[in-house]
Amino acid sequence: MRVMTPRSCPCGLPEPYQECCGRFHRGVAAAPTAEALMRSRYSAFARQDAEYLLRTWHPRNRPARLDLDPRMRWTGLEILGTTGGSAFHTTGTVTFRASYRGGVLHERSRFERVDGAWVYVDGDFLPE
Ligand SMILES: [Zn+2]
Repeated sequence: MRVMTPRSCPCGLPEPYQECCGRFHRGVAAAPTAEALMRSRYSAFARQDAEYLLRTWHPRNRPARLDLDPRMRWTGLEILGTTGGSAFHTTGTVTFRASYRGGVLHERSRFERVDGAWVYVDGDFLPE
């Protein structure tokens, strides 16, 4: 007999979604590091949560609206490296590979802290 375990979070951490990125999506906690914010934004893409993506975008760069493609299927996130981005920093970068059905997004994203909360600024695409 198979033991049912709660599904791990889309961001790849073993915790169930509700106890991982779900806390940030619901607004009951704020991502403590740039990496945690990056993971929660990936999970928001996977769950088509455009509202969270807009909320965690730097006001300077935030698009007026975000139309997510419902056919997009995100299949995995791999964090390759980080700089700064901790509780002791005000800026940080996260380099990652995000896989989706049909391709992979390899990006170095920049994050800043605005009023204490980490937000996404922008990113550079890297060769696959
Ligand atoms: Zn997560």
